[in-house]
Parts: sequence; C-alpha cells; structure tokens
Amino acid sequence: MKITNIFFFVFIFATSLGTIKSAKAQNGDQILDGIGETALSARYIFNGDVKDWSRNNLHGLATQINFINDERFGKVLSLSGGDQSFVSIPGKMIPNMESFSISGWFYFRSTKIGQSLFSYGKNNANRIAAITSGNAMPLGLKVLFPSKNLNAIEDHTVSLKLNQWVHLAIVFDISSKTISTFVDGKVAASTKFLPADVYTLLNSETRNNFIIGKSSEAGDGNLVANIHDFRIYRIGLNDKQVASSSGNSNTLTNGNQVNTKVKLEDDFPKFSPSTPQLYNKYLIKVADVDVSTTIGTSPRLPSHLKATYQKGIKKADVRVLWPTPMDNSVVLKSGRYSVTGSIPGTDFKPKANVIVKENMDEVLPQPKLKSFPLNKVTLSNDAHGQKTKFIENRDKFLTVLAQTDPNSFLFMFRQAYGQKQPESAHPLGGWDTEDTKLRGHATGHYLSAIAQAYSSTGYDKALQANFQKKITYMVNTLYELAQLSGKPVKGSRVYQSNPQAIPMGPGKTAFDSDLSTAGIRNDYWNWGVGFISAYPPDQFIMLENGAKYGGQKNQIWAPYYTLHKILAGLIDIYKATGNKKALSVAVNMGGWVFKRLNNLPQEQLIKMWNTYIAGEYGGMNESMARLYEITKNPDFLKTAKLFDNIKVFYGDRMHSDGLAKNVDVFRGLHANQHIPQIVGSIEMYQASKDADYYKIADNFWHKMIDDYSYSIGGVAGARNPSNAECFVAQPSSLYANGFSPEGQNETCATYNMLKLTGDLFRFDQRGELMDYYERGLYNHILASVAEHSPANTYHVPLNPGAIKQFDNGDMTGFTCCNGTAIESNTKLQNSIYFKSSDNESLYVNLYIPSILNWSERKIVIKQTTDFPKSDETKLTVNGSGKFAVNIRVPSWATNGFIIKINGKVQNDEAIPGSYLHLNRIWKDGDVIEVKMPFSFRLDPVMDQQNIASLFYGPILLAAQETEARKEWRKITLDAVDISKSIKGEPKKLLFDIDGVPFKPFYDSYGRHSVYLDVTLK
Ligand SMILES: [Zn+2]
Repeated sequence: MKITNIFFFVFIFATSLGTIKSAKAQNGDQILDGIGETALSARYIFNGDVKDWSRNNLHGLATQINFINDERFGKVLSLSGGDQSFVSIPGKMIPNMESFSISGWFYFRSTKIGQSLFSYGKNNANRIAAITSGNAMPLGLKVLFPSKNLNAIEDHTVSLKLNQWVHLAIVFDISSKTISTFVDGKVAASTKFLPADVYTLLNSETRNNFIIGKSSEAGDGNLVANIHDFRIYRIGLNDKQVASSSGNSNTLTNGNQVNTKVKLEDDFPKFSPSTPQLYNKYLIKVADVDVSTTIGTSPRLPSHLKATYQKGIKKADVRVLWPTPMDNSVVLKSGRYSVTGSIPGTDFKPKANVIVKENMDEVLPQPKLKSFPLNKVTLSNDAHGQKTKFIENRDKFLTVLAQTDPNSFLFMFRQAYGQKQPESAHPLGGWDTEDTKLRGHATGHYLSAIAQAYSSTGYDKALQANFQKKITYMVNTLYELAQLSGKPVKGSRVYQSNPQAIPMGPGKTAFDSDLSTAGIRNDYWNWGVGFISAYPPDQFIMLENGAKYGGQKNQIWAPYYTLHKILAGLIDIYKATGNKKALSVAVNMGGWVFKRLNNLPQEQLIKMWNTYIAGEYGGMNESMARLYEITKNPDFLKTAKLFDNIKVFYGDRMHSDGLAKNVDVFRGLHANQHIPQIVGSIEMYQASKDADYYKIADNFWHKMIDDYSYSIGGVAGARNPSNAECFVAQPSSLYANGFSPEGQNETCATYNMLKLTGDLFRFDQRGELMDYYERGLYNHILASVAEHSPANTYHVPLNPGAIKQFDNGDMTGFTCCNGTAIESNTKLQNSIYFKSSDNESLYVNLYIPSILNWSERKIVIKQTTDFPKSDETKLTVNGSGKFAVNIRVPSWATNGFIIKINGKVQNDEAIPGSYLHLNRIWKDGDVIEVKMPFSFRLDPVMDQQNIASLFYGPILLAAQETEARKEWRKITLDAVDISKSIKGEPKKLLFDIDGVPFKPFYDSYGRHSVYLDVTLK
C-alpha cells in the first residue's frame, strides 16, 4: 500500500496578543486551562531543562541546546538551527493515541523555509510534521500527515510574524476527521484527513522518536526559534480548550482545582430534554413509592419504579431520577415528607413518600461467607474442551509474569538504599522510573500477583515453583533492606531509629522528593526502624507538612498509595504461603506508620487525605486492618482508623452525614482515589464491628451502581469536572456530565469495585451484588486484555466508534491499571464459589467451567459449561453429605430458570436477582443441571434513555465499527420484542442488526460502539 503525503499550507495573519499569564507546572496540573490532566501526554515547559511535567515521565533528550531569559516567560528554550540543536522525545508518548493535539509558544527568528517545528515518523511518506513554508515573508506553516487519499489535499496559507511570541496548536481530531491549526487561540485553517492512516502511524509497533526542532527528513532544515510550554495531548482539543490554553479566552478557568464547576462547552451529541426516549415514549403510568428511613439517614430511593406502558410492552419498571441533597437536613427529625422525582423526557413526576422513624436497635450483618482460597478453585476448559476467555487471559498473564525478572521490581528499592544492583538488573519504566515519585507501586502489585499466581498454578508444578522462587527472592531482598532502616551502619554510631525524628537528608536544607541518582538521600540509618519503600521517607513527611502533588522537588506524588500496594503485596504473600518474613516487613512498616501518624491532630489528617492525589492512600485502612486481624496488635486498628476519610465517610468531624448517613459528598471527586478507601471501610467493619463502616461501604456500593456506572460496570470519565478519572459532578448525570473524550472506566477502579462487591457479599447474599460482579467481570475485566498478549487497558472508552488501547504487554512499565491487571488476571476464579463460614452451604455465583475442591467437606464440584455461549451449566458433585447449594438466579434470567437434579425437574420458584436454595443430602455423582434462557435487553444511560447498550443474557454486545464516529450509531428495534430486530448465531454470540455486526465486547479489539442511539418502533 502506497502512502502519499498530503500537504496543506496555512497562512494566517498573526493577531495581536493580549495579556497572558504563563501557566505554571508547579501547581499540580490536574486541570490545566480547563483540560484534565488525563488528556495530557507530555508537557515541556523548557524553563532550563527538557523534562516532561506530565505524569508520564517522557523526558526529552538534547545535546546542544540553550536556554535564554525571555521577558515574558522567563527562561525559554532557544534553538539555533544548528545540526544538533533539537529535542528528542521518546516515541512512547505517542502510543495508544486516538486523536491528538500539539500546542506550544513559538518565537520564530528566521524566515527560512522548511524549518521543522516537530516531526514524528520514519520518512516523508509516513510522518506527522509541521514545517515552515511560503516563498518569502511572511513565514507560513505546512502540516504533513500520511494519507493515501490524494483527493484530500487542501492548501491553505498562513503567516507567522517574526520575532514575537505566537501560540500554535495543531489538532488532529479523529472523530470529526479534521486537522485544525490554531494561531493565538483562533482557528486559522482546517482540513479533512483519513483517521485510519494517521492511526496506523501512531499505533505502529515501531516506535519513532518525536523530534522538536529537527526533521527526520534530510531535506528539511532545523528550527531557529524560541519555544515555551510545548504540550502533547491525547485528545483533539476543541476551540474553547485551545483558546483557554493560549490565554485568548474570556472564559479562562480557575484551573488547578479538581472539583471546580468547570465545564467547557463541547460538541457532544445533545438531545431535546423534553422528548421522551426509548420506552418512556410508551409510558402510561408510574407508581409512587413508600420508603422508610431512620432519623439522620438519607433514604435510599429506588432507581426504578413500577410502570405501565402502552402497546403491550411488558417492561415493568422505569428509571427515575431523584434530587440528591449534599446533606441530611430533611431527615433530622421523625415524620413524613415526600421527594419528587423526574423521568427524563416526560412530565411524569413520581413521588417517594418517606417516613422518617426513630432510630431502632440495629441488627448488624455478620460475615456469613468466606471465599475459597485460590488454590481450591481451578479454571477448566469449556464443555467442548476449548479454552475459555478466562483461561486465555490467565495464561497470557502467567506466561509473561513467569518470565519477569524480580530484580526489575527491586531496582528502585536497592537504589533508594544505595545498594549495588545485580549485573543483569534493569529498572522498570512507566510509573517506576528513577524520577517518578510513585516508584515501587508496581512492586506491590507484583507481590500480590506472584502470590496469587503461586496459589492458582497447582495444576502446573514447574510454573508454581517458578513463582515460589520469585516470592522467596523478593521477600528476602525487601526484608534485608528493611532491616537496614533506622539502625547504625557497622563502625558508625550515627542513626535514627525513631520514625518521628527523621532528620533531613545529609547536606540538605529541606525534605525533598529528589530521587535522581545525584540528588537522592541514601542515609537509611536515619529513616526510622521498619521503614521500607522504593524512596526515602521524605514524601511521607512532606505530605504532613502540606506538600502538593506535582513534579518539583518540593512536591510529591502519593506516598501512602505506593505503600498500600507494598503492604498489600506482603500480606498477600503471607496469606498465600505463610512466609513469615513477608509478614514481618509489613508489621514493622505498619509500626513505622503508626508512630508517624498517631500524634497528628485530626484536622491535619483530614487535610492530608483530602489533598488531590498527594493524599491518595489507596487502601491503607484495609492493609492496617488486615495487619490487626493477623496480629491482634491494637495499634494497627488505631492506625487503620487514622485513615478514615472523615469528609467522605462522615461529612465532618461531628459525623453529621457523609456516606455513613447515605449522603453523597464524593460527587466530582477522583474515583479510584476513593473506591479503595471504601474497600478499607468494609475491612474495618470486619475488624472493629463498628456499624458505620458497613453502612459506608453498603451505601457507597448502591450509589455506584445507581448513579455512576456505565454498562460495562466501570465508573468515572467526567466531562464535568473535566477529568477522565473523576466521578461526574452530579449523581445520575452520566450523559450530561460523563463520557469524557479522554475516556471513562478506569480499569483499576473496576478491579476495586469487584473487590468491594465480593466483600459485601460475604455479609449480605443479595443477588444484585453478584449480578454486578458478573457484569464487571465479563464486560470490563475480561474485556480489558489485548488479543494476543497481556497488554491491558487504562481507560475503556465507550464514546461512539472508540477503540481499546492496550499496553505493558511485556510488563516493563506499569501504570495503576497495569498494576491491578496482573492481580485481576491471576485470580479470575476467586468468586465463582463462596461457602458459609460453618461449611454448611455453598454459593454458586458464576457460571464458569471450573473445579472446586471444598476440602473441609471432602466435596469436589465440577462445573461443566459453554457459558456464555450456552445458557446452561452442569454441576457434578463428588463426595456426599448434607449441605445447601445456593444457585444464583441472575436478574437477567427473566425467561425462566430451570433446575434439574439427576435429570428430574425441580419445582422450586426461581426469582431473578436472588439465590435458589437446594438443601438436601447429596450423594456422590449427583448432577445439578441449570438452564437459564438468555434474552436481549437494553441498558440505557440513566439521564438519556435512547443511548443504551445491548445485552444478551450477561453479555454486552458491541457494534463493530470500521472507523471513529462523532455521532452515536443509530439502530431501530421492535418496541414489543427487540429480538425480532436482531439476527444471528446465539451459540457464537455473533449478531446482526441491519447489516451491522455485533459481538461480545470482551471479544472486540477494533472500533466499537457499546452505546447506541436506539429508536423503538
Ligand atoms: Zn488506573
């Protein structure tokens, strides 16, 4: 295939510049100029170095460049046009991009034609670049991009003035197929392009370097210009965003705050708010509802109400949206009041009649169930002997995990402690490089993953021995390093064992987060007894002193987040293998944390834990509670409590409301900063029996399901606030405020939601918990892994014609989501079965071929099925005895649920969304057969009903797209029976609607439409 270049020429007459504030990198750029941090791939301020100020560490390389002082921006990069005068950026910044935008301030000093502003790609025929053009003054600009469609050529002419600053932005917007060039915040030219060709270049396996100031082509010249604040975005910036980032905007946002009310206008498809959509068009009647609550606790209002429709539509309920106050002022005394809800697109105003009762004695839920250890459940092939998606994904991960070198995961720990590296040791990339303040986080995930891999591989002794060896090596090394902390080095008497009295690093005048080889402190003898981390203790101390998130030496990332991963990994190893050294490292570090935090005033802790990103502590409360449960040392329970997020859990220090009172004060906040805290809360309930912790977790879970989740089971992805990692600014407003162009459904958030769901199920065996678990497991976790490698997703975007982006297939550079992926995929079998704590009953939650060894009962259960390619499963009992088998009747099983025991149909009533109890004396060889006919159903976005996902049974079906789209894919379905409009082969899960192919989202690797614009007829 021949790829031809298309050039277009853009000449613009430079507009005069207004007064512009230079954006600073120093403030923690979570929302910079109204654009979320998640959109930023790389940012080079160029104020004396070529460092990347985004969190992606794509630092530049340069040999012969200068920085000069500029009146307007301070120190700026000055390129001379000389052969070596350029900055090269790792091509890794390009990977997994869809749309992208480049912006920066340029001060052109030469009229020469052919100066290269930037260039990415191998050669002239296949690159993205911008070069100066024109025949004489004024200077023009030419943007190059690959295309095989010559008809797309468009010429523009632009002019760029010499010797003055100009803000340039070049935006490749894949969904509108438009390249636009902005000068000083105003669009100067735009032209169409073919996204597929650019996409191929951006996502090609060979990583080219991105060069600023020089070209990959011999014909082009080098740039003679000054540059300030060069940024690369992974989204196509819109007009407002470019205007805002160039300072040429009246609506300049007060950035640097996450939860501001910033919502830039966007071109997201909009629908009339007064048009009833989908089934709401046929709505005749909606029933009011009675709800009761107790004083102080906000009532839990149902997400759906009973409804009647015309035209013989059998649907029995309708989605209702309720106002969601930020406090509990209406329920402070007993009595009655009513809440009026709304049904999008209609005039229906259903009421919830709330009775507020005096507080009664509460019955606290007890932990009734236990999960089976991983080594008791083994995944099997399906009924036809074929590998399931679960086995495929597990094996992709185990294969590469087995080949990893533990020294990579120990590299930064050794570097922190000033120890020699083994000869073959290579550091990790991603968020674990030398100057990443989060380094060590992947090590924690790795410890958990190898612990789980060890437990899960009993079927392959050689593989299991491999993981055992890794575990021993990792733990021994971490143990030896931890032993060094706070103890004198041989021959010296200088040391500080008290974690509260850690001095500044030798020769330093402040605590700092400098982790460079030249700048890092290695005086581990001063770090307090028990300390273990991949960096010195300074970040922990700086957080107490009010440090913010950011890239400077006086800023931090999230010290307790990293530590939580390490502690969780050590505890997981102890639990899986009984390794006492692992426990000892965790216990000693737990003691260090206790000593540091125990004397801090509560206000200070509240401030710390509410600092954006810097105060993100993962599930420290969970790990400390687990340490308490293992050791019974009350200090650990106390420490766990110090991690209470008072604001989110209780509203304030008086415990006025918050989640404990069912009040949502977390709207708009960072999703995965908070979900692990809730996982910690349920662990705290188990450890402390304090009922509030249970309520916090239970209320949070309901709010997640009702108000924040997408059809795949993921959350977050806010357009408002503008941050793909945040919850939308208002509950139940995914359409109004979600679907961020930067992506939604951060995969690690769903990992944590599944963990929370499994934990809650141990206390309360509600069917809806495992309904959600199944949804998230099949449609997000299983869908988050690449086809042929363990590369995996960060966000899973569900915008029209989106595509999944996978990375870290070689496990050498981890983001948060790459970290949880190695955990998720080494424990895929962990929730298929649960048992009661007294071993009297078994719960069958998921229909996945597997073998359960219930050793306490000497029972083996073999589950044989092709599910979800078949709607039945078979459980064979080996062994005998009296116990209950509780079989999940999924909420989607509305077409019947038939149980046969030894061929005989049982007459038990099966209610969708519950469990069917089969209590009897089982004999060896008994067979339980379950049939649950699948049907099609739509799962609409709560506030925009026509935008809906199509499910077949538990499986989300995605329309297979050939290109990116601006608009939702439209489909028309029969109102009474949607299956009439769908053709296909259920056994292969391949379907067709009006010629558009649909298949399971977990099997979709190309462009997809998970949400469709559905019309019923
Ligand atoms: Zn993540």
